[in-house]
Amino acid sequence: MAQNFMWDTRDHKFILKEWLDMDKIFGFDRFNGVYSKDDIDAILAEAVKVAKDVIAPSQDDNDAVGAVFKDGKVTVPESFKKAYWFVQENGWGSCNADHHYEGALPKTLYTAVAEALASANAGLAPYYMATAGSAELIQDFGNDHLKELFLPKMFSGEWAGTMDLTEPNGGSDVGDLLTRAFPTDTPGLYKIRGSKCFITGGEQDITENIIHLTLARVEGARPGTSGISLFVVPKFWVNEDGSLGKFNDLNCIGIEHKMGIKGSATASLAFGEENECYGWILGDPPGEDGKGQGMAQMFNMMNTERATTGTAALAESTVAYHNAVQYATERIQGRPLTNPKAGRVQIIKHEDVRRMLLDIKAHLDAMRALSMKTYYYMDIIINSKDPEEVKQADWRYGISTPLCKAYLSDMAWILTAEAMQVYGGYGYSEENPIAQLVRDVKIYSIWEGTNYIQSMDLVGRKWMQAKGQAFNDFLGDIFAFLKANADNQEFARELEILNKAIRSYNEIRKAIQEHAMGGKIGFIGLYATRILHATAKLYCGYLLLDQALLASQRIKELGEDHFDYAFYKGKVESAKYYLRNIVPEIFTVTELIKVGDSSAIDIPEESFQF
Ligand SMILES: Cc1cc2nc3c(=O)[nH]c(=O)nc-3n(C[C@H](O)[C@H](O)[C@H](O)COP(=O)(O)OP(=O)(O)OC[C@H]3O[C@@H](n4cnc5c(N)ncnc54)[C@H](O)[C@@H]3O)c2cc1C
Repeated sequence: MAQNFMWDTRDHKFILKEWLDMDKIFGFDRFNGVYSKDDIDAILAEAVKVAKDVIAPSQDDNDAVGAVFKDGKVTVPESFKKAYWFVQENGWGSCNADHHYEGALPKTLYTAVAEALASANAGLAPYYMATAGSAELIQDFGNDHLKELFLPKMFSGEWAGTMDLTEPNGGSDVGDLLTRAFPTDTPGLYKIRGSKCFITGGEQDITENIIHLTLARVEGARPGTSGISLFVVPKFWVNEDGSLGKFNDLNCIGIEHKMGIKGSATASLAFGEENECYGWILGDPPGEDGKGQGMAQMFNMMNTERATTGTAALAESTVAYHNAVQYATERIQGRPLTNPKAGRVQIIKHEDVRRMLLDIKAHLDAMRALSMKTYYYMDIIINSKDPEEVKQADWRYGISTPLCKAYLSDMAWILTAEAMQVYGGYGYSEENPIAQLVRDVKIYSIWEGTNYIQSMDLVGRKWMQAKGQAFNDFLGDIFAFLKANADNQEFARELEILNKAIRSYNEIRKAIQEHAMGGKIGFIGLYATRILHATAKLYCGYLLLDQALLASQRIKELGEDHFDYAFYKGKVESAKYYLRNIVPEIFTVTELIKVGDSSAIDIPEESFQF
C-alpha cells in the first residue's frame, strides 16, 4: 500500500511571494511579460493537481511491480509510463531545462513544482530529471551538430537521458574508471568500451531511445580525473536526419534489487561487447597534455543534480510529515501528563509527540528555505547581466549546493524515521505510508556523490574559493543581518544564539586550519561531515530567523483572527525551535573539534572486529 499523497503549498507561496524578491527574477528578460508573481498560485495549484491525480496513483507500483529485468530488457510499471508522458507532454519535465523554451519557469518556481511532483512518486522523478540534466550538458557543451541531433527529442521527453559515471572500480573516486574511448576516422566520434553500474534509467521501456552521457578515458589521456572526457552514447544510433539507426552495442546486463525507489531502474551496462559501440565527444578531445574536459563538464550537471537531490529529499519528508500530523490528530492514546484524570486524548496533545512534529516541521522549513534560496541564486546566475551580481550569486550558490545535497538528504532519513515514530507500531507497518518513504529517501545521501564527498567539497574547496573571499562574503550576509536587527527585542534570544553560533563557527574554521598546519590533515576528513552540518545549521538558522521577522510583521498587520494567523504563527515558532534547539548543536561540534578527538583514527582496524 500505502500512498497517501498529502501536500501543502502555503510555505512555497510565502517564500515566493513574500520572502524572496521574485519581482527581480520575473523582471529578467526571459520571464518579463511571460510570468509574474500573480501566476504563482495557479502554477502551484496545477502542479499539486498533477502530482495528486496523475503521479501519485503510480507510487504504489514502486513496490507492487517495480522495474523488472528479463532477457536483457527492462520493463517499468505501466502507471509510470502514463505519468512520465503526462509530465513531459504537458511542460512539467525536461523542457524546462531548454534555454529556448518560452514557457520555462524560473528555477526558483520550478523547484517548488518539482518538489510537489517528486513527492508524489520518488521512483518516477529520476526518469525526467536525469533527462533534463543530461540534455543540459549537451546544450551547454555540445556543438551545433550534437544539439540538433539530440536536444529536440530530449527536451520533448521522447528520448530519455542518463548520467553514466559509476563503475565497479570507480565509485566515489571516478578517476579510477576503466571505460575507454578510441578515436575513429571521423573527428569527434569514438568507439566506447567498458562497463558502468548503478545507472539510473540506464535501461527502460518508456522511451524509444536513451542517451547516455558517459565518462570515459580517451586512449593515451592522463590517468585520474583530469584525463577523463564525456561522451554522448545513444542506445540506438541517431542518423544525420534524426531517424533512429541500428542498436549501438550497449547492453543492459542487469538491474539492482533495491531498498527503495524500486520503479526507478538502476542498471548495469556493457558498452561495446562487440566492439561496435560509438559515442560523440562533448567539447574538445584531450590535447597534448592529455587533459580531458569531462569532469568539469559533468560537475556542471552534478551541481544541478545535487540541488535536485535536496529537493527530492525535502519532498518525501514533507509527505511523511503531513501524514504524521494527520495521524497524530486522529490517534487517541493516553491521558495528558499534566492532568492524568482527564479523558483519553489525541496523541498530538502529548508533549513528546509535539516535539517530534515541531522538530520535523522546523527542519522542513529550514530545508525549504535553503533549497529555494539556492535556486534563487541559480536564476540570478543564469539571467543577470550584472557581472558583480552574478559573481556574488555564484559564490553563494556554490556554497549552498553541497549543503542542499547533504544536509537535506541526511535530515530526510532522520525526519522520515521520526515521522514513523509518531505512528508508533503502525508506522512500521507497510499498511501505512511512512515505511516506503523511509526506504525511498535513503538513496539521497548516497548518489550524486556521497555526503562525505559533499562535505569535502565544502571544506576542501568552497572554504578556500577566491582565497576565502567567497565564504567570507557568505558569512558576511549573516553578520549584516545581525547588525541590521541588533535592536529587535522580540527575537533577542534567537539573535543572540545566532550571534554566538557564527562566532563559534569561525572557531571551527580556525581550529581545523591549526590542526592541518600542525600536520593533522586527517582531521579535515574526520570532521568534514560534522562541519557541513554545522554550516547548514548556521545558515538555516539565519534564513529561518529572517523569515520569522517577516511572519511576525504579518501577524501584527493581520491580527490573530485572520485565517492565515496559524501559518504565520507556525513560522515564528518553527524558527524559534530551530534557533533554540538545533543551532546550539554547533557549539558541541566546535568544542570537540577544538579538543581534536582522534579516537576514530587511533583505533586499530583489528579492534573494529569486536
Ligand atoms: C539507486 C542508485 C542510483 C544511482 N544512480 C547513478 C547514476 O545514475 N549514475 C551514476 O554514475 N552513478 C549512480 N549511482 C552510483 C552512486 O553515485 C555511487 O554509489 C556513489 O557515488 C558511491 O560510490 P560507491 O557505491 O562505489 O561507494 P564507495 O565509493 O565505495 O564508497 C563507500 C563508502 O566509503 C566512503 N568513501 C569512499 N571514498 C572515500 C574517501 N576517499 N575518503 C573517505 N570516505 C570515502 C564513501 O563516502 C562511502 O561512505 C547510483 C547508486 C544507487 C545506489
